[in-house]
Amino acid sequence: MTPWRPRSKSGRYKVLLALVILAGAALLAWVAVSLTKAASIGKDALEQANRIIALGPRPCGSEAHQKAQAAIVEKLTSSGMAVDQDHFTAKTPVGSVPMNNIIGRIPGRGGISQRTIILATHYDTKLVRDFRFVGANDGGSGTGLLLALAPLLVKQNYRHNIWLVFLDGEEAFREWSATDSLYGSRHMAGELKARGIAPQIGAFILLDMVGDADLGILQDSNSTPWLRDLVWKAAARLGYSKHFLSTGTAMEDDHMPFLQAGIPSVDVIDFDYGPGNSYWHTVHDTADKLSAQSLQIVGDVVLETLSELDGQ
Ligand SMILES: [Zn+2]
Repeated sequence: MTPWRPRSKSGRYKVLLALVILAGAALLAWVAVSLTKAASIGKDALEQANRIIALGPRPCGSEAHQKAQAAIVEKLTSSGMAVDQDHFTAKTPVGSVPMNNIIGRIPGRGGISQRTIILATHYDTKLVRDFRFVGANDGGSGTGLLLALAPLLVKQNYRHNIWLVFLDGEEAFREWSATDSLYGSRHMAGELKARGIAPQIGAFILLDMVGDADLGILQDSNSTPWLRDLVWKAAARLGYSKHFLSTGTAMEDDHMPFLQAGIPSVDVIDFDYGPGNSYWHTVHDTADKLSAQSLQIVGDVVLETLSELDGQ
């Protein structure tokens, strides 16, 4: 037997050429599949967000706020989730206000050390009387992304339970303070603690202002370090380090009451919205500032983080 040899130089080039063409075709197919996958979450999240934003300003107790609740419940239910609504009345500086935390539950397949992972956002918009505030990024973006993730998460066979939590009353009615802010998250964290459920929550991941076309997620120093590191490593693995910054600040957001209940929590927030954060809580927080690509990036990082947590 003789070792196999290319018949001729030109034959060798033909083999090489064929290999190059095959490799090229495989690469193109991979890129096509990646792009299809890439296009879907972000595009869907933007559509979901736009549907909510189109309802107009959604301060607690308004008709648009009730319509947002109905849209959230409908999407979670049609995705195949069991949905709980926790109606409560909050005492605010403008009087008693009806609020409602909405929770979609996906049971995990169970096993040793099964926990519950919460993905959360707030869906109310700040009560503003002197201009039309639709909260596209602040209230709309996180809601749209969680709604887009709902049908995907239902199909995953995670070991841990997943809860999609739409918190009400994040915004202050007058001035942000310990008592005038975070109504929904304070209520829910209090309930989890009172019922002895808090220790079963493995992680609380908050998405807030995640749709800015100029995406820069800051490192919140209040977040639980190991969980924040897990999210940032997931982003780095996916090549998104440009958008998950190495700098940050201390954020007071819906994760605070969960942290205080002893639950590992992270705030995924882009708090640099427009030049000098000038779009935040202003008439400029509109749908045209959002991008499907930014929502896609955060969605990918959430899914990568969940896979990582599910292996723990
Ligand atoms: Zn806000």
